[in-house]
Amino acid sequence: PEPPPSAAVPQAGDPDLLLLRRIGVVDPESLDDYRANGGYLALRAALAMGPSAVIREVTDSGLVGRGGAAFPTGRKWEGTARRPETPRYVVCNADESEPGTFKDRVLMEGDPFAVIEALTVAGYANGAARGYLYIRGEYPRALSRLENAIARARERNLLGRDILGSGFDFDIEIRRGAGAYICGEETAIFNSIEGLRGEPRSKPPFPVERGLFGKPTAINNVETLANVLPIMLMGGPAYAAIGTGRSTGPKLFCVSGAVPRPGVFEVPFGATLRELLGLAGLGDDAPPPRAVLLGGAAGGFVRGDELDIPLTFEGAREAGATLGSGVVLVLDDAVDLGAILVRIAAFFRDESCGQCVPCRVGTVRQEEALLRLSRGAGSRRTDLALLREVGAAMRDASICGLGQTAWNAVESAIDRLGVFGPDDHPTLKEAR
Ligand code: NAD
Ligand code: SF4
Repeated sequence: PEPPPSAAVPQAGDPDLLLLRRIGVVDPESLDDYRANGGYLALRAALAMGPSAVIREVTDSGLVGRGGAAFPTGRKWEGTARRPETPRYVVCNADESEPGTFKDRVLMEGDPFAVIEALTVAGYANGAARGYLYIRGEYPRALSRLENAIARARERNLLGRDILGSGFDFDIEIRRGAGAYICGEETAIFNSIEGLRGEPRSKPPFPVERGLFGKPTAINNVETLANVLPIMLMGGPAYAAIGTGRSTGPKLFCVSGAVPRPGVFEVPFGATLRELLGLAGLGDDAPPPRAVLLGGAAGGFVRGDELDIPLTFEGAREAGATLGSGVVLVLDDAVDLGAILVRIAAFFRDESCGQCVPCRVGTVRQEEALLRLSRGAGSRRTDLALLREVGAAMRDASICGLGQTAWNAVESAIDRLGVFGPDDHPTLKEAR
């Protein structure tokens, strides 16, 4: 049997937290218990203030997307809500599949009614009568809890026609992925829901303008939506006071690898990486890790002597990484970094949908070069130059984020960790 989610959430149930406070406390199958723990107060507040005030609070909160790309949620909702075309849709992206990411699973398994309530608030704000929740196929427990939550909400008029007598009609349909990483990309989700092949579409047009079924669509990650509930209850400005000026609110981080207590942790933006690792049991007296992969396979490495960086979008960027969806993979000296890079490259090669050449071919060439480098075969100088050229082509010319970021972690390991030794950046022609 799977362990309960609270086993991976050392802070579960802490009443001072905004996102994890109900995990392990509330019975995830019981609507009554959810309501006894503050559930559905946010929807009531939203219905009382009206759709445009909901969007204003979300804008004032400074909330940005937690799926990885950090786009302002208020702007996304404004963009969808002001479109004249109908119907409009809201979609919850629950296809969490970035390697090392497991925060949305904790929310969906431990607090499923909150996800449903938050998507309902999103539907109300965006003028949508239908929401879709696209969940990865590998999350059966989360799926059954969400299905139960939807059924219970329908019984109590928290979904369906004229919700709570407000005149607002809204319902949610769940769609299940079938194991493709690329189906977490927002436009590939739309294709998948529409019954088409799960391939990303070119953007623009962005989903706010032309999304699901060609209609204006607000698509948000599970954690992003979960933040909307406290924003409704405390107000946007109070929420914006948490964290830093440009990275507001709390953030969930998925800490894994060489730490005594791996799991999901909630900290306000601006906490340092050292503080986060302390929560995961890596005390100040412990030897520093060799490196930390921040932001996942599409992110970057920070060195063990850089643990004082603030966990903010801008702090991560300055350190040459990204916060992405909150991956914090800790690597000690026992780890073979070359093998890790080959594994990352194999992942992208496997998961490329093959639609565009730079990514389809580039991810193969990247893996081949990394295999040669990690085995000491071939010409080191030529392969490093080849990696840079292939990486630049993928970054500049791929259709979607997979190809555009497939070289990020490799580049970071070469430049910041010197994993394959010094490199004077020759062109491929010079290196040959
Ligand atoms: P993106 O920057 O293209 O877009 C981010 C969001 O903002 C999208 O919803 C997009 O529609 C919207 N947007 C951007 N510009 C807009 C505009 N001008 N007007 C209206 N809306 C606009 O990024 P993306 O390709 O959607 O996502 C890439 C990220 O996904 C990466 O950062 C990666 O870390 C992350 N990712 C997360 C997971 C996970 O499991 N959570 C998995 C894979 C990748
Ligand atoms: Fe498919 Fe890769 Fe192109 Fe994205 S970048 S559309 S995953 S081939």
